[in-house]
Amino acid sequence: MTTANAYPVTQTIRTIGILGGGQLGMMLAEAAMPLGYQCVFLEDSADCPASLYGRVFHSDQLEDFIAAADVFTLEFENTPTATVEQLTDLSKSGSKQGMFPPLIALDIAQDRLKEKQMFNSLDIATVPFMAVNSEADLQQACHELGLPIVLKTSRGGYDGKGQFVIRQDSDIKAAWQNLKDAVTGKGSLTPTPAPLIAEGFINFSRELSIIAARAQNGQVRCYDLVENHHHNGILAKTQAPAVGTSHLFKQATDAITKIMNHLDYVGVMALELFVTKDARGHDTLLANEIAPRVHNSGHWSIEGAVTSQFENHIRAVVNLPLGDTDNVHPAIMLNILGQYPDISDVLNIDGAHYHSYHKAERDDRKIAHITLMPNDVADLEPALAKLVATLPNKMGLEKKPSAIDSQPKAADSLITTDNNNDNILESTEVHIDDSQTTQAIDAKAKTEKVKK
Ligand code: AMP
Repeated sequence: MTTANAYPVTQTIRTIGILGGGQLGMMLAEAAMPLGYQCVFLEDSADCPASLYGRVFHSDQLEDFIAAADVFTLEFENTPTATVEQLTDLSKSGSKQGMFPPLIALDIAQDRLKEKQMFNSLDIATVPFMAVNSEADLQQACHELGLPIVLKTSRGGYDGKGQFVIRQDSDIKAAWQNLKDAVTGKGSLTPTPAPLIAEGFINFSRELSIIAARAQNGQVRCYDLVENHHHNGILAKTQAPAVGTSHLFKQATDAITKIMNHLDYVGVMALELFVTKDARGHDTLLANEIAPRVHNSGHWSIEGAVTSQFENHIRAVVNLPLGDTDNVHPAIMLNILGQYPDISDVLNIDGAHYHSYHKAERDDRKIAHITLMPNDVADLEPALAKLVATLPNKMGLEKKPSAIDSQPKAADSLITTDNNNDNILESTEVHIDDSQTTQAIDAKAKTEKVKK
């Protein structure tokens, strides 16, 4: 039972209300507990992962959820903005202590078109794009942007869903038929009417992301750039730090800092980026999207950074100083999709850290993640091979490793599959060899220099 002196006298926030109760909420609660905070969740699934860590309120019990918490945050960006608005108003009137991140961040992150418009207004480069409201607009976009293009719903898509690659004029009709309901808000893609977005299909060489935390006093602290590999549109693997990217670190940190300052953001945000070449043939970054929350590509930070993304998010929300975001050791994080591996086999690998989300097995569902951080960085690649061997769903990672220099061009490897009319983009799986793992140490050292 909570007693009157169970908290420091100065601690006015005791309970954090989290919108959503998935694994992100669960890991936020894990980070909040040692700091002295409890979490409660607004989530319709009573046996969600976060239910192990705090009380779960159904959306019908919104008023009870509000009464139970002092300050609010979210772990799911498709949270209804009306709820966030209500929590913001309560905070403005002084009856609650804040809703972070701010509503505007959510509003923009829920809409790819607004998101790309914001990037460009801040001089952050993106792929070329156009709004599409009709088949005629789509014809026009194909003409102006040049084929191939990627047609996406601007709202409601996730993990590659709601996307269609148009490679030739004859694909236009099918693409429009597939996604047109999103424009009127009919069908299953999104209930909110919004234009589609046509994007130039870019020949990126790598997909990176950067995560940063912003405090209530405006301080921003950035994590290392990490490299992400997807399988069937779902994140499979993150390498932290991304090898050989120190020359891109400043561009990435400048971009995320600008975005966070522009939104007067509080909490952790992720920015997904493509690496491509500029007109002079130099590596450069294009911003793809933000996630206004802790992010799957930051799970490595639980063991691999001085302060994890989860702890820094909690610190920001309750107005505590942010912690050091430095990488303490190169790490690889793998998602476990669909089926659990044998935990003993996994933990037989030195440096493997297992995080179960306590979810039932289901095809391609994220049910756990494992972070590999062997003491000796030279053991990272062999440990990865051992780990992949234990996985029932190998997510394409068992393919023969190839050096980054010899990786296929993204355009060759991006595919669309027409599976129940879901068009999924699958990006290149790139594996690094041992020599590149060794470079990870250099990358870390260089990155640290840039940061200081
Ligand atoms: P998104 O839902 O925008 O994150 O897209 C899912 C995946 O599709 C990305 O991770 C990329 O691999 C790929 N992709 C998205 N947009 C483009 C684009 N404009 N050109 C090439 N590939 C893309």
